[in-house]
Amino acid sequence: MRRSRQILAALLLLSLLLLSACGAGAEETGAEKSDLPQTAEPASRDEPGRPSAAPAGQESPAPQAIEPKGMVYYTYFDTVSYVYDYAGDSAERFEDRSAEVSHILSEYHQLFDIYHEYSGITNLCTVNKNAGGAPLEVDRKLIDFLLCAREMYTLTDGEMNVMLGAVLRLWHDCREAAGEDPKNAAIPEEAALREAYAHTGIELLEIDEEHNTVRIADPEASIDVGALGKGYATERAAEYLESVGAEGYVLNIGGNIRCIGDRPDRSGWKTAIRDPAQDGQGYACKIRIRDTACVTSGVYERYFTVKGQRYHHIIDRDTLYPADYFASLTVVTRDSALADALSTALFCMSAEQGMALAESIGGVELLWIFPDGRMQWTPGFADLIEEIPEN
Ligand code: ADP
Ligand code: MG
Repeated sequence: MRRSRQILAALLLLSLLLLSACGAGAEETGAEKSDLPQTAEPASRDEPGRPSAAPAGQESPAPQAIEPKGMVYYTYFDTVSYVYDYAGDSAERFEDRSAEVSHILSEYHQLFDIYHEYSGITNLCTVNKNAGGAPLEVDRKLIDFLLCAREMYTLTDGEMNVMLGAVLRLWHDCREAAGEDPKNAAIPEEAALREAYAHTGIELLEIDEEHNTVRIADPEASIDVGALGKGYATERAAEYLESVGAEGYVLNIGGNIRCIGDRPDRSGWKTAIRDPAQDGQGYACKIRIRDTACVTSGVYERYFTVKGQRYHHIIDRDTLYPADYFASLTVVTRDSALADALSTALFCMSAEQGMALAESIGGVELLWIFPDGRMQWTPGFADLIEEIPEN
């Protein structure tokens, strides 16, 4: 039984712990003064287990401090997922709640997987394979997700487009090939990118809400949910936790951080934003957050190098090449799906345009880090900043 395989880790996390940078696959960033723990190295690819214990040399907890509990999973969305409880739930309750979070993540992981199919499930891999064919009946959860994806397309004026699959696949294949044979690394042909782009219209995604069917109208088109899937699943897990009255929980699903409520002492959680100049290993600033989501997209994620030039994984539909406005972009807003969509979309537009979009949505705070290291933030983001290291 899945549950019995899980090792519940009542962590001796000290009150001030290693941080998680708000960024996918964040590393420990030497942030002794941050709160959110994360980044145990996977003990195994399959088993959930305990996150890393606190590094040596940290402050002792206050005598009455509640010991946080944590659970880590390695099987969802090709990344590491953490569930933390800072509220002092009983071991049994935490086990129940984290097991349900794991179940939710597992369901979305399977539905969103574009590389594998699972028995008894019509997922996005099936939908992509069936492009140009008849409508396929899918789980209502997938319909709701695709409706959200379409909304995000409209909201971002098409900068975040889940139908960009044909273009993204060319970049993905080059990145994979570069990983295997770095000497012969190459980028996609310009003509191939243009031809692929002809198969990325959002109208090619046909959703029938009444019959729960979905169809891609063009056999050359495909869905890629890398920009939205994790954030959306994270939000569904947060929604569950809120529905059972959980407070003082933190989810970190591959860098998509979502705080459920606040700590019992109302002190929020300190988290660090990676410094892109140090390849994301150091931190550019620390912020304090509560009851919100925090997502960072950065050029230090999933890149490959050709003739000394780096090519990262966020593709600007205006150029069909990696967007070059920023080194990283952080979004803080309550809904993790929105945060994830915006982290990708706003990466592909100027800070002025991003600022205007954030203002029109409301409740969205942003931090831009430019390639030269300069930082800019929205007025509301300034209130979150706790520390900026001197360089
Ligand atoms: P991460 O997955 O590292 O957290 P993002 O949330 O920024 O990063 O999403 C990047 C992923 O989204 C890419 O790997 C790719 O699959 C997809 N993607 C890249 N550019 C776009 C775009 N303009 N619109 C939609 N999806 C994109
Ligand atoms: Mg994103």
